[in-house]
Amino acid sequence: MNRRSFLKCLSSGAVASTLLPSISFADTDSPEIAITMDDPHTLASGPLSNDQLSNNILDAFSRNNNLKIALFVNAGRVDSEEGKALIDKFDSAGHMICNHSYSHYNYHSDRITYKQYSEDFLRCDSYIKLFKSYRRLFRYPLLREGNTLEKRDQMRALLDKHSYRNGYVTVDNSDWLIDRLLRNELGKDPSLVLENVKQFYVKHMIEQAAIYNEMAQKLYSRNVKQTLLTHFNLVNALFLGDLIKEFINLGWEVIDAPEAYSDPVFMEKPDIIPTGDSLIKALARESTSFDAIPDPPGENEDFVEREFLAAIAEKH
Ligand SMILES: [Zn+2]
Repeated sequence: MNRRSFLKCLSSGAVASTLLPSISFADTDSPEIAITMDDPHTLASGPLSNDQLSNNILDAFSRNNNLKIALFVNAGRVDSEEGKALIDKFDSAGHMICNHSYSHYNYHSDRITYKQYSEDFLRCDSYIKLFKSYRRLFRYPLLREGNTLEKRDQMRALLDKHSYRNGYVTVDNSDWLIDRLLRNELGKDPSLVLENVKQFYVKHMIEQAAIYNEMAQKLYSRNVKQTLLTHFNLVNALFLGDLIKEFINLGWEVIDAPEAYSDPVFMEKPDIIPTGDSLIKALARESTSFDAIPDPPGENEDFVEREFLAAIAEKH
């Protein structure tokens, strides 16, 4: 990997100048991306029942060559008959069933000890190990791997002991916030123009993928297999299929999650404190200082909200 040249490019602003979502990769090595999805739950979401939500999401994958994703289960949200039936739908379709803890604790909080956190991790493992597509991948809630060296390394040792690996996100984004804004606006105005929301969401997700792909290129001088963060929510139930199509239109290869996690980049363990966020961002920060790798605007809540409200006000 060439982290030194990455720093040089960053200081010259190269990353910021290459964030155009319309970049086409058709004539070069195609960048690759897999879908990962967090926090399945049993509640209705806006106008969709929970059944409609899961059916829409699963259809988006089956319609795309039976694409396989990694589902990160926060077991506390699905510890019921109804919840098990929901996870069973993903399991039967061959999606990876992975650990996202039982209680979704924030490991950066001083109030959360390693003892509590590790017990919570094992509680989720007991829940998911009954599914046939169970895989030993752990995604830290809120992508927070620890606020002290001791806590971080204790969890890393526990994952090793249980033959687990970190189910890293490489492409972070604000799908969760767009979903919240969408549901708020729909509550106020059920005739909201969904086309505007779709375009905003698709553009946002593609931009975030382009940012992290560019960052990975600078770090490794190759296309790293990317893992996109998404959540089990209304905005993805409505538009994830459109997003997958747009990735393909732009020359990306949308790949199965097990293939993505075979990339050696996922063996990395960034040596920074606090640790977390996108793996690519953490590796970039490991190679320099936190200040040199600012969060992309798409991860700034005020910015995303402002842009969202402007987008939905547009007329067609
Ligand atoms: Zn989560």
